Amino acid sequence: MNVTAPGPTVGVVGGGQLGRMLGEAAAPLGMELLVVDPTPDPPAAPVTRDQLVADFDDRDALRELAERAAYLTYEIELADPDLLESVSEQTGTPVHPHPDTLRTIEDKLVQKRRLEDAGVPVPPFRGVDSLAELREALDELGYPAMLKARKGGYDGRGNVPIETPEDAESAFETIVRAGPGATPEDPAGAAMIEGFVDFERELAVMAVQGDGEEDAFPVTETIHRAEILRETVSPARAEPAVRERAREIAFDVLDVLDGRGVFGIELFEGSDGDILLNEIAPRPHNSGHWTIEGGLTSQFEQHLRAVAGWPLGATDRRSPTVTANILGDVENQQPATLRNVDRVLEASGTALHYYGKNEVRQRRKMGHVTAVGDSDSEPTALLERTRAIRDDLTFE
Ligand code: AMP
Repeated sequence: MNVTAPGPTVGVVGGGQLGRMLGEAAAPLGMELLVVDPTPDPPAAPVTRDQLVADFDDRDALRELAERAAYLTYEIELADPDLLESVSEQTGTPVHPHPDTLRTIEDKLVQKRRLEDAGVPVPPFRGVDSLAELREALDELGYPAMLKARKGGYDGRGNVPIETPEDAESAFETIVRAGPGATPEDPAGAAMIEGFVDFERELAVMAVQGDGEEDAFPVTETIHRAEILRETVSPARAEPAVRERAREIAFDVLDVLDGRGVFGIELFEGSDGDILLNEIAPRPHNSGHWTIEGGLTSQFEQHLRAVAGWPLGATDRRSPTVTANILGDVENQQPATLRNVDRVLEASGTALHYYGKNEVRQRRKMGHVTAVGDSDSEPTALLERTRAIRDDLTFE
């Protein structure tokens, strides 16, 4: 394999924090990034060659992206699979993962059906096109249950728990209003309902499909509050047999997906150690940020290698590693000033990732802290230490 300088340009739909961390990983490989993002000066701006300021579904911008890049990929599910497929066909620039994969994943109901058909264990679920259908499904599934927007949900937006029959109507209205395209007058296609999983813990596997090879990073524990990821612990504090089962399921999931790249596979571990699939992200994911310092190869480098069809890197973990997200802790949107940063910088073995978003909003993901322990570090102690460091940070 020969690489001409400057190395290949990877065209990325989306220039948020994932684009920023992809850009950080691209430079040592000799690759360059070109992004499409509607926001001027997005988080990825300092580490990309150029930005096309345009909507994710702007045909001219996507066409230019494909013309100027050797490979296309995306860091958000809002990328338009039809458009990506069409500009790829016009220009000959390949898209990874394949647009069909994005079509399957972007709609949570289609995704769950596809996985269930492939024999991957999933919680019980139903598509619900009206309040009457929701009530019927709740009669079957029981309470509590989780109502989900089929498309466009992220970071806790798009999921509403239903505890009692009285919650159904307002939950349905919320989802129908939040989901793209749907209105309370015509809610068809907007929502799905899922049985509530009484999980022991949540797990994630970052799996990668390369050119004729596949691999997975060690199983990670993910800790959510109010449906937002707060911390990750690697290795997951689960029995070895449970971790092995999670890995097996991750490889089963890869078999269902077309195209190269890194996939974030989110799982529930039930009280008896059984594994159910929650959802897939067709891209690097928050649950894999620990690999930047904690892995021999980061998920971002791995994604770029996979997209370009280059040999994959080793997925081993260096040491136990914990990450803690820095979320907006303000009531109202305001210019972002992160305070007490020196405390993270002074802590040994601890790294700060500040995404450079100019404005902070309540619960917006603004950055994360990673702590890499020694080979014999106890994960719970490392988690507590990392949380304490993160909790000192504030935008107040
Ligand atoms: P999602 O955006 O669908 O991945 O959901 C975000 C978080 O909501 C998950 O990580 C869980 O903490 C919670 N969640 C989602 N679906 C369910 C479910 N069926 N049962 C229990 N908790 C859920």
